Amino acid sequence: LRGVVAMDGPSGTGKSTVSRRLAAACGAAYLDTGATYRAATLAVLRAGLDESAPAAELVAAATAARIESGTDPAGPTIRLDGDDVAAEIRGPAVTGLVSAVSALSEVRTQLVKEQQAVIAAALTEPGGIVVEGRDIGTVVAPDAPLKVYLTASDEVRAARRGRQDARAGRGVDSAVTLADVRRRDRLDSTRAVSPLHRAPDALLVDTDELSVEAVLEELLRLVSE
Ligand code: C5P
Repeated sequence: LRGVVAMDGPSGTGKSTVSRRLAAACGAAYLDTGATYRAATLAVLRAGLDESAPAAELVAAATAARIESGTDPAGPTIRLDGDDVAAEIRGPAVTGLVSAVSALSEVRTQLVKEQQAVIAAALTEPGGIVVEGRDIGTVVAPDAPLKVYLTASDEVRAARRGRQDARAGRGVDSAVTLADVRRRDRLDSTRAVSPLHRAPDALLVDTDELSVEAVLEELLRLVSE
């Protein structure tokens, strides 16, 4: 794989699974930028803040956080101020607040810079990097030679999220999951800075009817072109 593969789209499209497997299959590195916004959000919570805090305080807490992303697709890691927070960032407290934190432009500016540094470091090694998020093809890596935008219907995405939560031992009501998926999409696609949207040159892949295997097969074909 050459350079960056930019993988964007809303949650529940299978983006993480496909991105990791694509990276592993190609011997590429892997970066989950959503995990960095989640870690910054956990820093906000650890500072005792929530959505009602003044934006300046949210920004201060989020940008003071030291966030380290490990890019091995076989075992991606995420650290906040030295702690392994991989499990904690998937919990409901972070998921409930992450869209508000990631809408703050100062937070985005800093995290995008850090993500670009991780990408630049990975590109010094052979093999390239698969980067997933909401703004990879539009902001983080606008020159990526391959950009993919995954979509799926709200219901399919909520069902996938529900299965993921169940596997992680988090029992969540399916109506609540659907409402949360829709709420986060609305916030992510209507925010003022870097709203979620497909880059004009991104390939649109609708995953409603496609298995992970089928999407992966299509992507492997594209990267080998
Ligand atoms: O991908 P994941 O669901 O873990 O992302 C969590 C949240 O982080 C998203 O709902 C979005 O608010 C934010 N995010 C973002 N830009 C990215 C990746 C994630 O704003 N590149």
